[in-house]
Amino acid sequence: MTSLSDLPIREDLRGREPYGAPQKHVRVELNVNENTHPIPADVQADVLRRLAVALAGANRYPDREFTELRDALARYLGHGLSRDNLWAANGSNEILQQLLQAFGGPGRKALGFAPTYSMYPLLASGTGTDWIAGDRDAEYELSAVRATDWVRRVQPDVVILCSPNNPTGTPLSLDVIEAVYDAAPGIVIVDEAYAEFFPAGEQSALTLLPGRERLVISRTMSKAFAFAGVRLGYLAADPAISDALRLVRLPYHLSALTQAAALGALAHADEMLAMVDEIKGQRDRIVQGLTDLGFHPYRTWSNFVLFDGVARPREVFDELLAEGIIIREQGIPNTLRVSAGTDAETGEFLDAMARYVTRHGSDSTIPVKAAPVG
Ligand code: PMP
Repeated sequence: MTSLSDLPIREDLRGREPYGAPQKHVRVELNVNENTHPIPADVQADVLRRLAVALAGANRYPDREFTELRDALARYLGHGLSRDNLWAANGSNEILQQLLQAFGGPGRKALGFAPTYSMYPLLASGTGTDWIAGDRDAEYELSAVRATDWVRRVQPDVVILCSPNNPTGTPLSLDVIEAVYDAAPGIVIVDEAYAEFFPAGEQSALTLLPGRERLVISRTMSKAFAFAGVRLGYLAADPAISDALRLVRLPYHLSALTQAAALGALAHADEMLAMVDEIKGQRDRIVQGLTDLGFHPYRTWSNFVLFDGVARPREVFDELLAEGIIIREQGIPNTLRVSAGTDAETGEFLDAMARYVTRHGSDSTIPVKAAPVG
C-alpha cells in the first residue's frame, strides 16, 4: 500500500484536507445541522411503495431529465416557477459542483465570504477554480458595501452567497444579493440550504429571479425535509442555466430510486415540514439558554447556532461527547456550533452546558472580541 503523497495526484490537490465532519454515532447528534426528527411513518410507507415501483423498472436507466421531479419541485417552490426553471442533483453539494464545472474551471475565479460553508473551497479546487475568500463585517454580517467592494476588485466568474450563512447562521438581506448581482460580471449563486428556517414572512431570493438570468438559487431536501440520507438538492434559475449543467452532469445522474423517494417526500411536503416551526423554537431556546449562561450566540436564521465567548472549545466538545452529545468545532477561535434538535435533545444539550459552566465556573467564558475582521 502506498500513501497519497506518493501518488501522481494533481499538484493543486496535494496537501489538501477532505471534508471532515466527524461521523460519530452517539446519543445526541447535533453536529451536522440535520433535522433530527424521524420521517413520519405514513410518509415512509408511501416512499417505500414508490421505491418498489421504481425498483421493478430499475433494469432500465432512469428518466435522465427527471421531469416529474422537476414539476414537483416547481410546485413546491411556487413563485410562478415551472419545470424549466428547476434542476436537481445528488444533494446541493452536487448542484454547486455542477455549477462550478460549468461556470468556473481553470483560469476562472469563485468568490465567497469567509467564514462560510467549508465545501465551497473544496468544490472550487476539485473543479480547478480559484477560490477567493472575501471577509465579513462585525458579528459575521455582510453589508452590500463590503460585498460589492470585493466583487468589483475580484471580478469573479462565480459568486457564492450563503443565505443564511453556514457556520455562522447569519441572515443575508435581499438588498445585498441585488447589489452583488448588479456588480458581478458572472453567475451569482445564493445557497439557501436552510431557507425553510427563515422567520415567518421573510422573503427568499427566489423573489429576485425574474429578469436576473445570471442568478441561481440553490436548495436542498437535506435540512428542513429531514431527507439528508436520500441526497436531493436542486436549484431554481433561468432555463438556460440547466442547459449549461446538461453539458457537465453525468448521464442519468439522479437514480430512479432517488427520484422516487424525493417525489414521495414532496407529495407529503406539509407533513415533512411540520417540524420546522418546532425546530425554530428550539433554535431560539438555544440562543436564549446560551446567552443566560454567559456565551455569545450570533444572529441565526438557520437550524443551528454559532456561539462565541467559549474559553476552551475543545474542552467543552470533549466533555459533552463524554456525556453522549456531539456538537461541532468549526476552527473559529472560541466558538462552537450546535444544531437545534428535538425538545429532549435541545434540553440535554443545554443542561450539559449548564453543568459544564457549573464545573468550570467563571473562566468557562471569555469576553468576545469586537469585529472578527477588519
Ligand atoms: N450548503 C450549505 C450551506 C450546507 O450547510 C450544506 C450541508 N451542510 C450543503 C449546502 C450541502 O447539503 P446537501 O448536499 O446535503 O444538500
